[in-house]
Amino acid sequence: MKHDAKLTGMVVYPNDPEYQVARMNWNPFTNSFPVVFVFAQNTEDVANAVKWARVNKVPIRMRSGRHALAKDFSQTDGGIVIDTSHMRNVTLDKRNGIAKVQAGIRVGQLVRMLAKEGFLAPFGDSSTVGIGGISTGGGITAIQRTAGLISDNILAATIVDAYGDVLQVNEYENSDLLWAIRGGGGGNFGIITSYTFRIRTAPCKVGIYQVIWPWNQLDEVIDVWQRWSPGVDERLGTILEVYSKTNGLLRSQGIFLGPAAELEELITPLIEVGSPIKVFVDEVTLSDAIDFWAPNEPLFDDQYSTWSSTWVEKTLPEVGIKAIRSFLENATGSESNFFFLNSGGAMNRVSSQDTAFFWRKTKYYMEWDASWTKDCETQININLVEQTRIKLQPYTIGSYVNVPDLNIRNYGQEYYGENFARLRKVKEKYDPENVFNFVQSIPPAHHVCDHRDNN
Ligand SMILES: Cc1cc2nc3c(=O)[nH]c(=O)nc-3n(C[C@H](O)[C@H](O)[C@H](O)COP(=O)(O)OP(=O)(O)OC[C@H]3O[C@@H](n4cnc5c(N)ncnc54)[C@H](O)[C@@H]3O)c2cc1C
Repeated sequence: MKHDAKLTGMVVYPNDPEYQVARMNWNPFTNSFPVVFVFAQNTEDVANAVKWARVNKVPIRMRSGRHALAKDFSQTDGGIVIDTSHMRNVTLDKRNGIAKVQAGIRVGQLVRMLAKEGFLAPFGDSSTVGIGGISTGGGITAIQRTAGLISDNILAATIVDAYGDVLQVNEYENSDLLWAIRGGGGGNFGIITSYTFRIRTAPCKVGIYQVIWPWNQLDEVIDVWQRWSPGVDERLGTILEVYSKTNGLLRSQGIFLGPAAELEELITPLIEVGSPIKVFVDEVTLSDAIDFWAPNEPLFDDQYSTWSSTWVEKTLPEVGIKAIRSFLENATGSESNFFFLNSGGAMNRVSSQDTAFFWRKTKYYMEWDASWTKDCETQININLVEQTRIKLQPYTIGSYVNVPDLNIRNYGQEYYGENFARLRKVKEKYDPENVFNFVQSIPPAHHVCDHRDNN
């Protein structure tokens, strides 16, 4: 390697004892063999790493929480991984409801800390997901109908660009880049070392619920949930999770920013479907609600998994629900599942053009994953997820960049809809040489399209 640019921070090479742990991700299917990891301690370490990678012509990947769901997004064979996970400082401006957050903090740690200080910020269903990756892809959450997506709450950011320069991004400086990182997806424009978020005063108590049914009732439960959840009081965020037949779990749960008595009324249509085995409603502190929604969990999963995701604008017909059942009957991995989350409210009041996150007219979000443990089961699971996507495609629209699917060829349109062309222009301005380039990255506007970026 050439030495005219220097790596700083905690640097881990393949022969170092830390290397094997450094290359582990939540989904072991995404692990690869980079030539070096830089665990940045500050923004300068990140800038030095970008300059070093350019001089030495080493492909760059950026990483924060290690929860990328598809291969090649945050690690690649022979590349450098610039990891922000040691950068976790948070500065609160309580008077103005603003938090400045370094990109390496995990969602659970951040929202628990904010809750203790009396503030509410959107959180997903996993405590260990990194703020670095989730925020710029959108960040769908149980409270998105009240607080918007995580990306809707980004006010500013500090970004190291493709030249290793540090950019301040806000309403006044590099505002096109602010637009782009509000939904444009991780890894595309630069390494975000800190975000500034709008936060809200936390309610004293919130309602939570959980309903569990016998697995076989999934068709009627999905149908009632999909008709009820998009129109329900927008203070209620609700999910439905249906695991594989082998697993047998069929469950809905939700968080209501209001009293439990009102919540009980709201979920009546759900309780009346099928014959629930468990119905649980409670009123708890925000901290307890976070524990309920996103319990502490291990950083690494022990199963391989492959994913796809989409949005639903019109109620799914019976044939769509049949495709879901068929997937769940055939997916043998115990963690394989379908997951649904209602949209609407604040999330859909932002126009599709106001930020890079395009999908604003949806009723709900849907994702499915197949999990496995033995290498010989890999292809069968990839095929199963893909066949299901093809079956559902006539009834769904787009896909969620944070839950990417490498089988999607026209990914620009699917992830970003009509915003893809504008994202390519922003990319052209900040990264014309396409330094931040990976399997489904946004190509610069004048870059000659290959098979991957057909739009
Ligand atoms: C168990 C689990 C639960 C999840 N739950 C939710 C959920 O409730 N809501 C939701 O919206 N999503 C959810 N996701 C998806 C999640 O948002 C994405 O996987 C996200 O990209 C993870 O970010 P990360 O920083 O943890 O991952 P990483 O693997 O570190 O990075 C993922 C992507 O973000 C990019 N990236 C990471 N750090 C930076 C940075 N500092 N600057 C620029 N780009 C960066 C990477 O290059 C890569 O493309 C979940 C994922 C898992 C595995």
